[in-house]
Amino acid sequence: MAKNRRRPPTYELDINSLVDQFWDERSISRLHYIHLIERMPRDAIPANLRLLPDQSCLSPKLWYEDQDYTCCDCGEACVWTARQQQWWHEVAKGTIYSEAKRCPKCRAIVKEKHGGTPRRSHQDRQN
Ligand SMILES: [Zn+2]
Repeated sequence: MAKNRRRPPTYELDINSLVDQFWDERSISRLHYIHLIERMPRDAIPANLRLLPDQSCLSPKLWYEDQDYTCCDCGEACVWTARQQQWWHEVAKGTIYSEAKRCPKCRAIVKEKHGGTPRRSHQDRQN
Protein backbone atom coordinates (compact mmCIF):
# COMPACT_ATOMS: atom_id res chain seq x y z
CA MET A 1 0.00 0.00 0.00
CA ALA A 2 1.37 3.38 -1.00
CA LYS A 3 1.82 5.76 1.84
CA ASN A 4 2.55 9.40 1.63
CA ARG A 5 6.07 9.23 2.88
CA ARG A 6 8.06 12.42 3.12
CA ARG A 7 11.07 10.77 1.62
CA PRO A 8 13.04 11.53 -1.50
CA PRO A 9 11.57 10.17 -4.74
CA THR A 10 12.06 6.74 -6.23
CA TYR A 11 15.81 6.75 -6.70
CA GLU A 12 18.40 5.91 -4.09
CA LEU A 13 21.05 8.40 -3.25
CA ASP A 14 24.18 7.10 -1.70
CA ILE A 15 24.36 9.77 0.95
CA ASN A 16 27.43 8.34 2.62
CA SER A 17 29.44 8.37 -0.52
CA LEU A 18 28.35 11.93 -1.25
CA VAL A 19 29.48 12.96 2.22
CA ASP A 20 32.77 11.14 1.71
CA GLN A 21 33.47 12.76 -1.60
CA PHE A 22 31.94 16.18 -1.53
CA TRP A 23 31.06 17.44 1.92
CA ASP A 24 33.26 20.14 3.40
CA GLU A 25 32.88 21.24 6.99
CA ARG A 26 33.95 24.79 6.14
CA SER A 27 30.67 25.37 4.38
CA ILE A 28 28.07 23.37 6.22
CA SER A 29 27.70 20.94 9.09
CA ARG A 30 27.58 17.27 8.26
CA LEU A 31 24.02 16.84 9.48
CA HIS A 32 22.80 19.84 7.60
CA TYR A 33 24.52 18.61 4.45
CA ILE A 34 22.86 15.22 4.72
CA HIS A 35 19.52 16.85 5.42
CA LEU A 36 19.77 18.97 2.27
CA ILE A 37 21.47 16.57 -0.10
CA GLU A 38 18.65 14.07 0.38
CA ARG A 39 16.52 16.52 -1.54
CA MET A 40 18.81 16.79 -4.50
CA PRO A 41 16.89 16.36 -7.77
CA ARG A 42 17.83 13.22 -9.63
CA ASP A 43 19.15 15.02 -12.69
CA ALA A 44 21.36 17.34 -10.68
CA ILE A 45 25.11 17.00 -10.29
CA PRO A 46 26.43 17.10 -6.73
CA ALA A 47 28.82 19.96 -6.10
CA ASN A 48 32.21 19.18 -4.67
CA LEU A 49 32.27 21.60 -1.77
CA ARG A 50 35.97 20.99 -1.33
CA LEU A 51 36.60 22.65 -4.66
CA LEU A 52 34.36 25.60 -3.96
CA PRO A 53 35.22 28.66 -1.91
CA ASP A 54 34.07 28.87 1.68
CA GLN A 55 30.31 29.22 1.47
CA SER A 56 29.55 29.42 5.15
CA CYS A 57 28.13 32.93 4.83
CA LEU A 58 25.76 31.96 2.02
CA SER A 59 23.23 29.27 1.62
CA PRO A 60 25.71 26.85 0.15
CA LYS A 61 25.45 25.50 -3.34
CA LEU A 62 25.27 21.74 -2.97
CA TRP A 63 24.41 20.68 -6.48
CA TYR A 64 24.06 21.95 -10.00
CA GLU A 65 20.92 21.86 -12.10
CA ASP A 66 20.32 22.99 -15.64
CA GLN A 67 19.30 26.62 -15.57
CA ASP A 68 17.17 28.31 -18.19
CA TYR A 69 18.07 31.86 -18.96
CA THR A 70 17.53 34.48 -21.61
CA CYS A 71 20.53 36.07 -23.21
CA CYS A 72 20.61 39.69 -22.08
CA ASP A 73 21.97 40.83 -25.42
CA CYS A 74 20.12 38.94 -28.15
CA GLY A 75 17.22 37.55 -26.12
CA GLU A 76 17.83 33.97 -27.12
CA ALA A 77 16.54 31.28 -24.75
CA CYS A 78 19.47 29.28 -23.44
CA VAL A 79 20.35 26.65 -20.88
CA TRP A 80 23.32 26.78 -18.56
CA THR A 81 23.77 23.09 -18.03
CA ALA A 82 24.66 21.47 -14.74
CA ARG A 83 27.91 20.23 -16.31
CA GLN A 84 28.90 23.70 -17.44
CA GLN A 85 28.19 25.08 -14.00
CA GLN A 86 30.27 22.36 -12.42
CA TRP A 87 33.14 23.26 -14.73
CA TRP A 88 32.72 26.95 -14.06
CA HIS A 89 32.78 26.61 -10.29
CA GLU A 90 35.10 23.69 -9.74
CA VAL A 91 37.56 23.90 -12.60
CA ALA A 92 37.55 27.52 -13.74
CA LYS A 93 36.97 28.70 -10.15
CA GLY A 94 34.43 31.25 -11.27
CA THR A 95 32.73 33.40 -8.72
CA ILE A 96 30.03 31.66 -6.73
CA TYR A 97 27.69 34.57 -7.38
CA SER A 98 27.79 34.30 -11.12
CA GLU A 99 24.74 33.64 -13.21
CA ALA A 100 24.46 32.95 -16.87
CA LYS A 101 23.57 36.12 -18.73
CA ARG A 102 24.70 35.77 -22.31
CA CYS A 103 24.51 33.05 -24.91
CA PRO A 104 27.88 31.68 -26.08
CA LYS A 105 27.82 33.83 -29.22
CA CYS A 106 27.28 37.09 -27.36
CA ARG A 107 29.78 36.07 -24.70
CA ALA A 108 32.42 35.66 -27.37
CA ILE A 109 31.67 39.16 -28.66
CA VAL A 110 31.96 40.68 -25.20
CA LYS A 111 35.15 38.78 -24.56
CA GLU A 112 36.66 40.21 -27.69
CA LYS A 113 35.72 43.73 -26.66
CA HIS A 114 37.51 43.26 -23.37
CA GLY A 115 40.65 42.10 -25.07
CA GLY A 116 40.11 38.45 -24.23
CA THR A 117 40.06 38.91 -20.48
CA PRO A 118 36.71 38.04 -19.01
CA ARG A 119 35.74 40.37 -16.23
CA ARG A 120 35.64 38.75 -12.84
CA SER A 121 34.64 39.89 -9.44
CA HIS A 122 37.28 40.64 -6.82
CA GLN A 123 36.01 37.65 -4.84
CA ASP A 124 37.89 35.17 -7.05
CA ARG A 125 41.21 36.73 -6.80
CA GLN A 126 42.01 35.35 -3.39
CA ASN A 127 43.84 32.20 -4.29
ZN1 LIG B 1 23.00 36.25 -27.15
